[in-house]
Amino acid sequence: MKNVILLRFGELYLKGKNRNIFEKKLIDNIKKKLKGEVFSFDYTFGRYIISGYNAEREDIIINKLQMVFGLHSLSKAVEVDASIDVIKEEVKKIRVDNKTFKVVAKRADKTFPMRSMELAAELGGVVLDNNKCKVDLYNPQVVINVDVRENKKAYIYFENIICQGGLPLGTAGKALLLLSGGIDSPVAGYLMAKRGLEIEALHFHSYPYTSERAKEKVIELARKLTGYTGKIKLHVVSFTKVQEEIHKKCVPEYMITIMRRIMMRIAEKICEKNELGAIVTGESLGQVASQTMQSMTVTGGVIERVPVFRPCIAMDKTEIMNIANKIDTYETSILPYEDCCTVFLPKYPVIKPTIEKAEKEESHLDLNALIEECLAGEEIIVVE
Ligand code: ATP
Ligand code: MG
Repeated sequence: MKNVILLRFGELYLKGKNRNIFEKKLIDNIKKKLKGEVFSFDYTFGRYIISGYNAEREDIIINKLQMVFGLHSLSKAVEVDASIDVIKEEVKKIRVDNKTFKVVAKRADKTFPMRSMELAAELGGVVLDNNKCKVDLYNPQVVINVDVRENKKAYIYFENIICQGGLPLGTAGKALLLLSGGIDSPVAGYLMAKRGLEIEALHFHSYPYTSERAKEKVIELARKLTGYTGKIKLHVVSFTKVQEEIHKKCVPEYMITIMRRIMMRIAEKICEKNELGAIVTGESLGQVASQTMQSMTVTGGVIERVPVFRPCIAMDKTEIMNIANKIDTYETSILPYEDCCTVFLPKYPVIKPTIEKAEKEESHLDLNALIEECLAGEEIIVVE
């Protein structure tokens, strides 16, 4: 008998011929995530099995596996030889006193001498003999699963622990996350990583108008994301000069619109230089003036070569907050350090900007020089 963890993967089966690439990536990611742990990894008959770990590390290992995209669920299981006597001996140890239960048996190995139903009934009898309990086939308090697999082993387990789902990290390419210190953008990064995108991040600060601690907060948010994304290359760019120039030369209501357009242009340049295939933002429709349809048309309008992914676009703030809590970024996001977008904030930002008006305001600026200056001062921090 040995303790194992059974892993099940989700959507991979959709991938036809590419399946091998997806599986290889998933296995790599699992092994990377468990780096530093002692364990063995087996792949038999469409199942991944982790074994050979120290029992005290089991919950820690499970927590880590629950952060790996592409895994659908997992179970703590006991593995025994697939002989009816051995299985019965193991089932005898199960304690379900004063509970209702049922046994669900599955026989993937068709050479096993009992059919699934017979096996379930036989094992149900063993449980009844050894406990004061009742069978309830429809709404049992405990489900005892017994899988007899082709590798001549049987797996006995109770729960399916739900994992992240999604696609293995790295199977969709790499993108640049615009990471502010707010609640939404870390969630956006998590959601896109869940679809298989590796993430680099870009943060704009307005030092000395924003503090060093505001930057530390963003590094901390990136660090929280690394649990899901692996190490993150964080590009940090000073936006101070751009904001001062806009403040001096453009009408106040277009300040945020122009800022966003310049952020996007810088982001696209960083994408090109680092071979990143998309920009990700935390925008949500109608949340603030700069996130109306018209605003997004005008800000997104400067991007020519990559798509902009906005995974929070249809979500309510409470839905975004729930995810932020789940991935443990919320408490950091609400720390009260100022964001660069709050510096020189106009009282009445335009809600329906137009491209023509934005271009007219931008004609007062030396855009290329400003953008080049930002890029020249770029700082890179590898967060892990
Ligand atoms: P968040 O909670 O992500 O800050 P928000 O609701 O505060 O979002 P905005 O401040 O309007 O919204 O920002 C919209 C998006 O623009 C953010 O989700 C983020 O992707 C990007 N963004 C805003 N500020 C910055 C910044 N200082 N650095 C990098 N990206 C930024
Ligand atoms: Mg913000």
